[in-house]
Amino acid sequence: MMTNAQGRDAGERVGFVGLGVMGAPMAQNLVTAGFDVTVWNRTAARMAAVVDHGARAAGSLGELARRCDVVVLCVSDSPDVESVLFADDGLAAGLARGSLVVDCSTISPERTREFADRLDSRGVGWVDAPVSGGSEGASRATLSIMVGGSDRDVARAEPMLRAMGSTVTHLGPVGSGQWAKVLNQVILAGVYLAVAEGVTLGMKAGIDVAGSLEALRAGAAGSWVLSNRSQRMIDNEYPLGFKLRLHRKDLAIALELARAVGAALPVSSLAATLEDGLIGEGYGDEDNAALARAVRRLAGL
Ligand code: NAP
Repeated sequence: MMTNAQGRDAGERVGFVGLGVMGAPMAQNLVTAGFDVTVWNRTAARMAAVVDHGARAAGSLGELARRCDVVVLCVSDSPDVESVLFADDGLAAGLARGSLVVDCSTISPERTREFADRLDSRGVGWVDAPVSGGSEGASRATLSIMVGGSDRDVARAEPMLRAMGSTVTHLGPVGSGQWAKVLNQVILAGVYLAVAEGVTLGMKAGIDVAGSLEALRAGAAGSWVLSNRSQRMIDNEYPLGFKLRLHRKDLAIALELARAVGAALPVSSLAATLEDGLIGEGYGDEDNAALARAVRRLAGL
């Protein structure tokens, strides 16, 4: 195995599937760290920037699978992971025994265990490694990564995860990473709504909202959302980011699991309802901070 200048194992041939807002910078960071990276994206044009950065483009998922030892996924939802793995021309048929899939998408923990079992029967390992930290964290390689899988598979994935994130936490067996991410998305629902309420109250009162929020950043109300998304709520403009419809997808997972285990999630339920309305109005592809549209509107803003 080769080791690059940063001391990372660069011997694995790494595939990357899903070059969206998150996946494109994450794949670029793998290239920057010295890995031999091959990419595939459903919309082929989105591969160009990553190829310019030094990755190779595969013509199909099967070609990528045959060329790689470890394949990282960053696609939207559980059915999308299922499709890239198990469709007729999907990855599973081309992956050699002993290869590893590292799923950085945010998907259902239960579907995760199902996909891992199906791959295990083919001799392919699985690590779930959903991420948090936004598009900024993806670009700067400062993501928090929540990891599930066997000790052996996680140790193998770790050099790649450390090329994409600054905090990598192994929480337990397959599915554990996705469970932690469920909690993350539930907590985020409340934080987005709370920051939107603070912004709305301050604007209605006519005080210096931006200055006040700046003063709060280092105090007890400080949060990633307050620091990185409150200005968008003040401006009422919501460039990407994290698509609101993707957070709604995550709340669907959380609310289903909550019902199964007997937990009530009143704030997540409210956020889901407000997001349904915003998606119906055509705001689903805006950043999730657009939840503030609903709160502002209640105050006539
Ligand atoms: P995005 O910009 O919408 O990109 C989604 C990617 O998945 C695109 O490359 C898309 O291909 C691909 N894809 C979707 N369905 C597919 C399918 N059926 N077959 C093949 N490819 C498919 O989303 P994103 O923001 O990068 O998010 C990706 C994942 O990370 C999601 O699970 C999301 O919840 C999670 N996440 C996002 C953020 C964030 O701040 N954005 C933060 C943490 C976690 P096309 O280019 O062809 O559409």
